[in-house]
Amino acid sequence: GSAKPRVEESGRTLIIGSTGFIGRFVAEASLESGRPTYLLVRGGLVSSCKAKASAIMSLQEKGAIILQGSSNDKATMEKMLKEHKIEIVISTIGGESILEQLVLVEAIKSVGTIKRFMPSEFGHDIDRTEPVEPGLALYKEKREVRRLTEGLGVPYTYICCNSIAAWPYHDNTHPADVLPPLDCFHIYGDGTVKAYFVAGSDIGKFTIKCLDDDRTLNKTIHFRPSTNLLNVNELATLWEEKVGLKLPRVTVTEDDLLSAAKEMVIPRSIVAALTHDIFIKGCQINYSLDKPTDVEVTSLYPDIPFRTVDECFGEFAKKIADVPKAVENSGYKVGIFSPESKPE
Ligand code: NDP
Repeated sequence: GSAKPRVEESGRTLIIGSTGFIGRFVAEASLESGRPTYLLVRGGLVSSCKAKASAIMSLQEKGAIILQGSSNDKATMEKMLKEHKIEIVISTIGGESILEQLVLVEAIKSVGTIKRFMPSEFGHDIDRTEPVEPGLALYKEKREVRRLTEGLGVPYTYICCNSIAAWPYHDNTHPADVLPPLDCFHIYGDGTVKAYFVAGSDIGKFTIKCLDDDRTLNKTIHFRPSTNLLNVNELATLWEEKVGLKLPRVTVTEDDLLSAAKEMVIPRSIVAALTHDIFIKGCQINYSLDKPTDVEVTSLYPDIPFRTVDECFGEFAKKIADVPKAVENSGYKVGIFSPESKPE
């Protein structure tokens, strides 16, 4: 049966985009934290595809309240925010609809009782880095949302959670949905540029922690747990240890990434542009947190550990149901889960 929706308490939180990749982590964490959680769903349950409908239903079973509408319908948004006494709005709208938040920001402003807005960020500090196109176009849209939010005086928190803990495929927007490779590794450049890899569940958990924390008001929150800072060579070695395999390494050069970006196939070329920014230019690590608006998340919650990449990759390894097949296909005869074994 469904959990009883929690509607009476304060802290009512509306999540926009909970059927998406980042949104599902945020929605799960919000419900987990026990706050009254409202989900904005476009078109309602009926018109959603089966996978989405079942995702929404499982959140509903955990106590989420489903509201119907689209973020770019100002009248509906205003009415909804007032009627349900929403205090916090989190948007995890996808990359192709970033500007659909502009109307939402205006609705939040006109209602005037929203204590915190988190726009769809969940990546890098978009004011600080200039990826090549088409990555830059996405960043320009996210900047536009920031400037409107700040200009209207809407209280905000920007979550810059860096990369999701997974193998960083340069052509996949949601790398945590697929296992790390079992055939060969693509190593970007010389594979030595580090990045922060944060578990999806931690992106959700710490986003929710930041919500009603006074220290995060009108701040940019950077996720830089030192235990999660790795380069691609280290990621590859870690995965090899987890599956007891040695895999070939293929270099993907800077030029390869730039050509993939130039193809302008959306969203793949955006991912290529951002991969270039992260693993060639070092956009996650080439600046220090020296603005008064910068806050590093582990300084806020020093006692709450982040899940390590080791743990996340361990979980990926557990998911491989048919490892012998995978090994056979990879062309290597090695002992499974035996770190001593070397390729023949
Ligand atoms: P998805 O494309 O997976 O999901 C987008 C969600 O937004 C869907 O639930 C969609 O609903 C909903 N949505 C879109 N437009 C509207 C609207 N106008 N009104 C209401 N709902 C709407 O998004 P992602 O999770 O990929 O992206 C979310 C954010 O996270 C982006 O800013 C992206 O750049 C960032 N990101 C960061 C990653 C990282 O590694 N750090 C990885 C991936 C994304 P519907 O189901 O109806 O389509």
